[in-house]
Formats: sequence, C-alpha cells, structure tokens
Amino acid sequence: MRIGIDIDDVIAKTGQIFYQKINERFGTKVDFTKVPYYSWVDEQVFKKGYSADEFYGFLNEFQTSSPYHETLVLRRGFKEIVKKFYKKGHIIYLISNRHVLILPYTTVWLKNLGILPYVSGVLHNSYMVKPFSQFKIREAKRLKIDIFLEDALDYALPLAKNKIKVLLFDRPWNQKQDLPRNIYRVDDWEQAEKIIKKLETVKD
Ligand SMILES: [Mg+2]
Repeated sequence: MRIGIDIDDVIAKTGQIFYQKINERFGTKVDFTKVPYYSWVDEQVFKKGYSADEFYGFLNEFQTSSPYHETLVLRRGFKEIVKKFYKKGHIIYLISNRHVLILPYTTVWLKNLGILPYVSGVLHNSYMVKPFSQFKIREAKRLKIDIFLEDALDYALPLAKNKIKVLLFDRPWNQKQDLPRNIYRVDDWEQAEKIIKKLETVKD
C-alpha cells in the first residue's frame, strides 16, 4: 500500500512543546489537553491581534533553531514499524503542513534517526496552498496514497471525504464521536500497524 504519514504528533511528540512556546510568545493560555480542534490554537493567537506572518514566522523560526529537533521524542513504536512497513513493500511518504523552509531541518533530523532510508519522500507545504487541508489532499492524490496517518481532524475529515482512508491518532483535539466509516481511531503505532495489516487484505 501507499501510506502517507503526518509528522507532528503522529511520529513525534510536538504538541506540548509547541503550545508551551506559543503561550510564552503570544500570551495565550493554550492547555494541551483541552485544545478542541487543531486550528483553534491559530485562532487564539490571531484573536490577540497577531498576524499570520507573525505567528507562522515564529513557528518557522522556532522549528529551525537548535536544539528543537534534537529534543523531540518519537512516538513509541514508530521507528520499528516504519521499517517493517518498508520491508513489506509499502511505499511511505511523510506529508506535513510544516513550512517548506523547515524541510532541510526535518530531513537532517530523520536522517540522524535512521528513518530517511525507509521513506520515499518528505513533503512540506510552502503555505501557498490554503486551506492547509488542500495541501494534504493534493499530495495524497498525486502520490496515490491509500491510507493517511493523521492527528488533526481539520485534515482527516477532508481526506476521508476524498475517499482516502485515515488512521486518526487519538489526541485531545480530535475527539469527534461520529467519524466517517473510512476514519479509524487508533491510540498508538501498534494499533495502527494492526489496522494496516487488516486493510491490506481488503480490496475495495
Ligand atoms: Mg499533526
């Protein structure tokens, strides 16, 4: 299968670090455990009167400064499972709405972790594509992705609507109950691996 994987909060634990930094910089009071939906955080910053350039500029600067990537913790099981996927013949793309300027940093980080050889490509958004979900849909279609591993409902729902199966990693910001049938909620990478194994045998 052709598998698309998001980066932030799917392969690495980034939300907590992000929200802490955003609170410090913009005076927001974002509580990691109570974020109702992904883009809600952006809205809180804009409500304070900051512009999109200021906000995304800060995020880019933060993610390209040392030692950001060096301190990131991978989600348990990801590294082993992505290698298994590769060895089974799955084609893997990492597709993130991170700004394209962060791409060299992401790539070095993945290389240092020994993950880069197992993926066919790492894609970031130039922020020219809005809404951001459009970037994921466009790339998923272009790369003929069968299944997308995601944590943000803002992206998972439009992907599912475009007939792409989604494994949704359970996070505070994606607690919607009535999910479409082609979205499968998972707690961790072990569950994700099990569902992918099952889906491999189903032809639709
Ligand atoms: Mg994410």
